[in-house]
Amino acid sequence: NKTKLLEAEKLTAVGQLAASIAHEIRNPLTSLKGFVQLIEQTVSDVSANYFTIMKDELRRIELITSELLYLAKPQAQEFKDERICQIIQDVNMLMSSQALMNNVELRITGLDGLPEIRCVAAQLKQVFINLIKNAMEAMPSGGVIHIHASSPSPETLMIQVSDTGKGIPQELIAKIGSPFYTTKENGTGLGMMATQQIIHSHGGTLDITSTEGEGTTIHICLPAANVQNQDETGDGK
Ligand code: ADP
Ligand code: MG
Repeated sequence: NKTKLLEAEKLTAVGQLAASIAHEIRNPLTSLKGFVQLIEQTVSDVSANYFTIMKDELRRIELITSELLYLAKPQAQEFKDERICQIIQDVNMLMSSQALMNNVELRITGLDGLPEIRCVAAQLKQVFINLIKNAMEAMPSGGVIHIHASSPSPETLMIQVSDTGKGIPQELIAKIGSPFYTTKENGTGLGMMATQQIIHSHGGTLDITSTEGEGTTIHICLPAANVQNQDETGDGK
């Protein structure tokens, strides 16, 4: 448990450092973007390619900095008792058009009769958005994302996000969530790190199971609100 605490402290320090660096990068990035757009209008067709590349790379820096900025947020926001069904429904609304475009069916089950959880709703939404994005990216020609919620005991809430995608080789599962670990050409390798950090800051656990060629399931366990109120340590066992 002591090592767990130390790990959490380290993560917080890394998160804060990352966020301050990201913040410093943002302002020059904004002016760079503005001037690139301005110059683009004045140049010949020959250079058009270069501008496409420059804008893509700038977008990539923007993506990485916004994910890094997100890492520092968990400490800042307010915890409230929320209904997970509302959170999942909001995410469903946000992601449904993207799912449709990618030929992905978003299936959601088990939302009735769940205990409330004490959480920062915006952060949990981010968690599900990250997981859905990864699931979609693992199914380039479409498939099914199944979000199933359940409450195995009155004190716990379990949410499983599974996909029918390419899966993850067993030996690589442990690497997921390490900063900058990505297998994608345009990945940041920060989504799962932020996701794990948010779940841990909510006293929960995140596990990954996967079969190559069949799909991946992310298992999230969160303590119910009534439990955290009684037990303020909420270290998620
Ligand atoms: P990114 O999506 O930018 O690569 P993440 O931290 O979100 O970064 O994910 C890290 C890596 O974990 C991905 O590059 C991918 O290899 C693997 N991964 C995560 N979720 C899935 C999934 N549902 N199916 C297959 N691989 C996954
Ligand atoms: Mg991702």
